[in-house]
Amino acid sequence: MYDVLIIGAGPAGMTAGVYTARAGYKTGLIEVGVPGGQAATTDLIENYPGFPTGISGSELMLKFFEQTQTFGVEMLYEHVQSVDFHGDIKKVTTNNGTYEAKVVIIASGAHPRTLGVNNEGKFRGRGVSYCATCDGFFFKDQPVAVIGGGDTAVEEALYLTKMCSKVTLIHRRDQLRANKMAQSRALANDKLDIIYDTIVDDIIGTDKVSQLSLSNQKTGEKSILDINGVFIFVGYLPNNDFFPPELDVDPQGYILTDENLATNISGVFAVGDVRAKKLRQVTTAVGDGGLVLHGIENYLH
Ligand code: NAP
Repeated sequence: MYDVLIIGAGPAGMTAGVYTARAGYKTGLIEVGVPGGQAATTDLIENYPGFPTGISGSELMLKFFEQTQTFGVEMLYEHVQSVDFHGDIKKVTTNNGTYEAKVVIIASGAHPRTLGVNNEGKFRGRGVSYCATCDGFFFKDQPVAVIGGGDTAVEEALYLTKMCSKVTLIHRRDQLRANKMAQSRALANDKLDIIYDTIVDDIIGTDKVSQLSLSNQKTGEKSILDINGVFIFVGYLPNNDFFPPELDVDPQGYILTDENLATNISGVFAVGDVRAKKLRQVTTAVGDGGLVLHGIENYLH
């Protein structure tokens, strides 16, 4: 029996663990992969305070993890399959058994959206990627495309210019959504081309990706782009496989919380990217992880 059981060891879940364990609550933290979540696959994090020259996502997440261990958070490297949130004692079932807790914090994060174009699934891992730091090196000195116009697409495209011969960013509108600093860096980078108003119709190849078939949304003009890899960054979806039907979520599936990060189910809280919020960053995940303790203490007392 745990006081607090946290599902997901990204920055939000790990911060929540540090806070609850440090406050004296017996805390378990369930993680199916490596601690750190999406932040751990980010090359350089420049907007997390305390690191004036930036820090790699994996290094920052290792520090977060070490801090959970300092305060005695128990790690459970397991896959959550189902939950039972009826009653005062919550139950979480993993591939290894069922755990009980007075409080559950859902910190399961989000995963990249797919583009939904022809051959995307077929070429996943053979030219189609959703992680530049994981796969960029496979395209050293080769041309690649990046799809999307948000912070992730532009920042990852900039990262890819360090190793790829050329990076073509393809965005469906005539204006990028990314922050101004990333935009000006992109415009100043001569290894990065931006194609606006354009969508991908098809990913072409035999055993690996070799071309993209594109169409201009304004002119209707079709074109072919020769590339060896395509990195897709068109937003994220919540990791919600195990959510019970009675949990309130928004139309995209993100968990609705009140200002104490409590969900509509008493004793169940949500933090980080998995909850409906305006800004998904490490700083806001960390803010959630700290704030949730306040709601938990109110609930338990
Ligand atoms: P995002 O902000 O939701 O942007 C997704 C991009 O993909 C948009 O440009 C969107 O186009 C495009 N898109 C969506 N569906 C598409 C489709 N079917 N075909 C073509 N394009 C499509 O996602 P994100 O960039 O991954 O960022 C997610 C969150 O993380 C944001 O809150 C972001 O600020 C944050 N983030 C911050 C940083 C940072 O602060 N350094 C870094 C990374 C991420 P439209 O613009 O036309 O909608």
